Amino acid sequence: ALFLVSALSASASDVPPPATEAGAEEFAFQTEVSRVMNIIINSLYKTKEIFLRELISNASDAVDKVRFLGITDKAVLQDNAYLNITIEADPASRWLTIQDSGIGMTKAELKKNLGTIAKSGTADFISAVEKNKDELGLIGQFGVGFYSAFLVADRVQVISKHPSDPVQHVWESTDASKFTLAEDPSGNTLGRGTRIRLHLKDDATEFLDQTKLRELVKKYSEFVQFPIYLRTTKT
Ligand code: ADP
Ligand code: MG
Repeated sequence: ALFLVSALSASASDVPPPATEAGAEEFAFQTEVSRVMNIIINSLYKTKEIFLRELISNASDAVDKVRFLGITDKAVLQDNAYLNITIEADPASRWLTIQDSGIGMTKAELKKNLGTIAKSGTADFISAVEKNKDELGLIGQFGVGFYSAFLVADRVQVISKHPSDPVQHVWESTDASKFTLAEDPSGNTLGRGTRIRLHLKDDATEFLDQTKLRELVKKYSEFVQFPIYLRTTKT
């Protein structure tokens, strides 16, 4: 189900981007990740909107995971009891935010899940796209859907809080070579879950448009079991 809500209260995009420059640790992407990211960043693939399908699908997986864990371990739900996905665009600053109250990621998981990929998946993805560039749309099937964020964004932040890690962390990347990890200087604002912030490229302005977002979220939320909120801001 898709719900539209007006942003009357403080919202995800009101929070200034974390200052990850200070005290951030820098890591090189695994070679396979760099190869996949270079393909995505330099691709002429037209149907860029699929990034939203991939990020909604990851958010839905994460919420499903915590819902399942919560059946036997109620404590994991306490940090954030309401299972949902919230999407918000801020046209003025060009940040698009996809937030979920899913399981979240520990610091170690951020590093592993968003910095390494299985070699087999990489090779299959690369050869498929080399044969036919339209295969990029099938990115999710190769286990590298997250990186489709770089079809539309020149800067990606993943802010995450997992029940077993006392600290909320920020993963950030602006290119195919490296990413940073830092403690979120704003503290634990999520309780539990993940907020993905995409700073949209000049040619991705359409994804800041309320009508466009509404159409896409509706399309890609069809099989999602949890409420999806699209926060609308007056422009
Ligand atoms: P896949 O979804 O096929 O595993 P992705 O590239 O889309 O591959 O995502 C990589 C991994 O990053 C996921 O398997 C998951 O562990 C982690 N991940 C991505 N997004 C989220 C999220 N919103 N919440 C928790 N974990 C996430
Ligand atoms: Mg995925």
